Amino acid sequence: MADRALPSLSTAAVIAVGSELLTPFRTDTNSLAITSRLDAAGIRLRWKAVTGDRIEDITQAIRDGAARADLVVISGGLGPTADDLTREAIAAFAGAGMREDPTFVAALEARFAARGMPMPTINRRQALVPEGARALANPLGSAPGLLLERADVTIAALPGPPRELIPMLDALVASTLAPRSAGTPLVRRVLKVSGRAESAVDEIAAPIYLTGERSDPPVETTILAKPGLVELHLSCRTADEAAGARAVEAMAARLDAALAPACFSCDGLNLEETVGALLGERTLWMAAAESCTGGLIAARMTDVAGSSAYFRGGIVAYDNAVKTSALGVPGALLHAHGAVSEPVARAMADGARARLGADVAVAVTGIAGPGGGSDSKPVGTVVIAATGLGRGRVRTFRFIGDRALVREQSVQAALDAVRRLILDL
Ligand code: AMP
Ligand code: MG
Repeated sequence: MADRALPSLSTAAVIAVGSELLTPFRTDTNSLAITSRLDAAGIRLRWKAVTGDRIEDITQAIRDGAARADLVVISGGLGPTADDLTREAIAAFAGAGMREDPTFVAALEARFAARGMPMPTINRRQALVPEGARALANPLGSAPGLLLERADVTIAALPGPPRELIPMLDALVASTLAPRSAGTPLVRRVLKVSGRAESAVDEIAAPIYLTGERSDPPVETTILAKPGLVELHLSCRTADEAAGARAVEAMAARLDAALAPACFSCDGLNLEETVGALLGERTLWMAAAESCTGGLIAARMTDVAGSSAYFRGGIVAYDNAVKTSALGVPGALLHAHGAVSEPVARAMADGARARLGADVAVAVTGIAGPGGGSDSKPVGTVVIAATGLGRGRVRTFRFIGDRALVREQSVQAALDAVRRLILDL
């Protein structure tokens, strides 16, 4: 319950603790999960930091965060080992001693007993709570969180593993942070556009979204470009949440109409989910024939739970002999046009459709690089064919970027080709 004596929360600082987050091998994603939940609760992120497992650094980061914001959310450093120092840093910041929370000692012991193991002595540290703070239950792990609510600042510390952090954060936001929030909730909507360059999207979208910034309530739009994909993030912060939702909705509809048919999603769905939904609604089966994408299209399609209802499968036909044996592409066609050609791509799609019993199929054949390019077919040349439903479309793309980027853009374009084939766009 919100304590009446405590001031309301309008700004937040986030600190990600963990020396692994300072290496090139691991990136901090918890701060993004935390930010999205605070946004929804109307608490605006003001500042964030990543620090290694050094008590001086964590303590300093807490001081910095507390100087800038009403709320400091910390992730990580609550484990049982010597490099887990978040508890100690909070105590140092608060100038407080530590006490053992008997409820949490019992909970930790029960957790180990349930697995038939005695509790290692070092785990007892996890039940230490700085004076004035309270422990937060962690239903999915051994490390409890901590909450210190003071008049000048509120500090919440949550364990690092995302699967433990997220449910604890949701519970904390619902029980404590949202009721104390002073701010206004953020309404957000993401539009996704495929097959257009960021500048081309902006040229069409800017005259529309710039009017949103002057409307009441104002709708802000930011553009994010990803390989083969441009996202428009619409947001509105207003006390009247319903008015905010209507304003965002109206802006999304205007942008969608202007960007059609390239705008494939107004509700945050990704392309494989969008294609899956189109197939599902029409009870159609899809198949894939993949050369340079090596199975990435099948991987993306089957990322979606329930895809067995509409995705038959894919054939990775990398070698020309497999294009003939597994997909029935005539050797003469390969000889006459080369593997990276529109007739071959079309024959691959037709072959996958026939052999896998699908209504629609997409085929990709291209030169992902770095080798294999020629003057007439440079690296990045990718041919994509989608056939079925009595229709067919084939297109030659010239993607830029390295091998990984060419393959990613190819998958995106292939999924979009299926979407356009089904919708006859
Ligand atoms: P810790 O709570 O510090 O013991 O963190 C345990 C594990 O959680 C780390 O090894 C990471 O795999 C993961 N983790 C910690 N902090 C983050 C973060 N900021 N973003 C994503 N994963 C994290
Ligand atoms: Mg750690």
